[in-house]
Amino acid sequence: MQTKLINFKKYSSFKIGGTLEVALLENNFSNIADYYLIGSCNNTLVGDNPPALMMLSKKYDYIRVEDGVLKIGGATPSGKIASFCKKHNIANFEFVSHLPGKLGGLVYMNAGLKEFEIFNTLLELRTTDGVLKKEQIKYGYRFTDIKKPILEASFELESGFSSQKVAMFKKMRANQPSTPSAGSCFKNPQGDYAGRLIEAVGLRGVMRGDMCFSSEHANFLVNTANGTYKDAMWLIEEAKKRVFKEFAIKLECEIVILDREYRDGV
Ligand SMILES: Cc1cc2nc3c(=O)[nH]c(=O)nc-3n(C[C@H](O)[C@H](O)[C@H](O)COP(=O)(O)OP(=O)(O)OC[C@H]3O[C@@H](n4cnc5c(N)ncnc54)[C@H](O)[C@@H]3O)c2cc1C
Repeated sequence: MQTKLINFKKYSSFKIGGTLEVALLENNFSNIADYYLIGSCNNTLVGDNPPALMMLSKKYDYIRVEDGVLKIGGATPSGKIASFCKKHNIANFEFVSHLPGKLGGLVYMNAGLKEFEIFNTLLELRTTDGVLKKEQIKYGYRFTDIKKPILEASFELESGFSSQKVAMFKKMRANQPSTPSAGSCFKNPQGDYAGRLIEAVGLRGVMRGDMCFSSEHANFLVNTANGTYKDAMWLIEEAKKRVFKEFAIKLECEIVILDREYRDGV
């Protein structure tokens, strides 16, 4: 596989990580099991000892209407999807204008805002192992059981792009910090909010090096300057420990932690 040198301190939304050689996945799928697949690392904390990484090549960066369905390549950024839908008056993708990531990452995470999730209008996926129909996939809140790299996804095509929805999503984002983060750090436990629990155990705004759970939104772990993987992990483990001790709730990371030494990691 061809490779590309990526500085994760610039590339990842957390602005954490070293400069690493990343393999480019194009047509040869023979040794993909040796690598961990990344998208644009908007939901990923890159560790000090990450596994070998790969990403889809530019070949998978496209969006088009074909045979009455919307086909999007796995490497297509959310901004491009949003602009295409606006330009061609296509409904149901307004929420992605406020969701950073590439199509593969959005689908794998079943990313969304409230009830608007990427799976809502999904029809099928093309993976390195063939076609997967929506009915064959288990999915839920920020969860899917997809095991293979997503090369392309097909969606129902409906006309009617809504600028009101874009404005509504923009408003929903208003309380989110603009400091580097990866969005929500933990999944909300059933019937509760991770941010409320983090605040209740006294971790909102507490600095560890340059990292903290934001005082604007406690479930956002933010990098205020030169935050490190170790400090991020200290806060994550501390939040899990304190919340379990006080509420007997096991917080589950929404972010993906890429480090060989992390026990829940890859
Ligand atoms: C400021 C901010 C706000 C956010 N708000 C939200 C929000 O409101 N709702 C929400 O859902 N998310 C939110 N996120 C998280 C992020 O936008 C989504 O998780 C997005 O889907 C990440 O896409 P990515 O390409 O960056 O994936 P990455 O972070 O690179 O990868 C995430 C996971 O997807 C897998 N993956 C990536 N590409 C593929 C592929 N082609 N095939 C199979 N698996 C793949 C990776 O292996 C990894 O496990 C936010 C992030 C930030 C920085």
